[in-house]
Order: sequence, then C-alpha cells, then structure tokens
Amino acid sequence: MIEKLAAIQERDCRILKFERELKDLPTRKQEIEARLEDNRQALAKAREAVRLRQSEVKHAEAEVIAQREKIKKHRDQQVSIKSNREFRVVDDEIALLESSIRKSDDASLEMMQAIEKANEDVKRLEASLQAEEDSIRAEVQGIDERARAVAAELERVQTERHGMTAGIDANTLRKYDRIMNNRKDAALVKIVNGACSGCHMRLPPYLVHAARRSQELVACSYCGRFVYMAPQAEN
Ligand SMILES: [Zn+2]
Repeated sequence: MIEKLAAIQERDCRILKFERELKDLPTRKQEIEARLEDNRQALAKAREAVRLRQSEVKHAEAEVIAQREKIKKHRDQQVSIKSNREFRVVDDEIALLESSIRKSDDASLEMMQAIEKANEDVKRLEASLQAEEDSIRAEVQGIDERARAVAAELERVQTERHGMTAGIDANTLRKYDRIMNNRKDAALVKIVNGACSGCHMRLPPYLVHAARRSQELVACSYCGRFVYMAPQAEN
C-alpha cells in the first residue's frame, strides 16, 4: 500500500510541478515582452524629440520669411520718405530686423545640429530594438516550446497516475487525495528521528510504534499526513 501510494505521490509531485510551471510561463512571457515595450517607448520618445525640433526649425524659418518681408516693405516705404530723420528711423528698424534674422539663422543652425544628433539617437534605438526583438522572439519561442513539452509531459504523467490507483481502497485514496490537495507538497511522509517529516513535529511514541509495526497507514496527529517508517530510518 505504502509503495503504491509513494509511487502515486511521485507522479502527483511532478504533476504539481508541471502545473505550476505552465501557470508561470505566461507571466514570464509577459515580462519579456514588457522589456520590448520599454524599448519601443524609448524609440517613440526619441522620434518625438526629432519631430519637435523639426517643427521648431520650421517655425523659426517662417519667422525669418516674415521678417524679410517686413524689411522689403520698409525699403519700399523709404523710397517715398522725404525727411532724413524719418528715413533713419526706418533704417534702424531694418537693422533691428536684420540682426534678429541673423540670430534666428544661428539658432536654426544649432537646432539642425541637435536634429542630427537626435536622428542618430533614433537610429541607435532602432538598431537596438531590432536586436532586442530578435532575441525576444527567440526567448518567447523557447517558452512556447517549453509550454508544449510540459503540457505533453503533464498529460503523460496524469494518464500514468490514473492507471496506478488499482488495488488501493477507495477510502485511503480519498484521504490521500484530500491531504495532497490541501498540502500541495506531500500526503505521505517518512518518519525521521521520531518526527513527521511533513510538519517536523515529534510524533507520540505509540504512533511511531504503530507505524513501525503495522501495514496500515498511520496519520500524523499534527498535520494529518500519512506517516511511515522508512526502512533505512528504522535503526
Ligand atoms: Zn505531520
């Protein structure tokens, strides 16, 4: 009986391990894919930075065009001006606009250099995203393969376990199943140095004696797991 239950328990432990792994695999996949999402966001941010600077340059260029038109208007105006003083006032305004245009041109040049640098960032991030995508694809594929292998193995062990209950009375089997479902680790444990190796409580001597003598299953009075005396632990 003990040998049969121990064999079932060995299968059940593997079944539990496989089930846990199958449950964890999607989370691992999500974590890996989240890493990719971080890189995608970094790339989107870098692209946005380029776009923003380009629109700043465009805005500055439009400003310069408007200023040039103003200068042209001032010059047209000057043709009909009679007074020297008035002429000079307009000249000063033109000089002011020209200086502003020079400043804008300098700023645009700086921005163009910044755009060039930002574009390099984009290219670098694109390359690293590509590399990351390749490695993540491989990792995800590995996880999917593992999930398929575990599912197949789980089914195989479950079938095997199903065929192992013959010769065990229904009552014992029911108790075993209940303990296993509650404990999720073991329903049948060895007595080691007079203690239950499931809960590590020292067992009453009569229970240890009963376990040593009897072919019947004995339950730990603390955790309820079936306890048995392992042959090597007897002396
Ligand atoms: Zn116990």
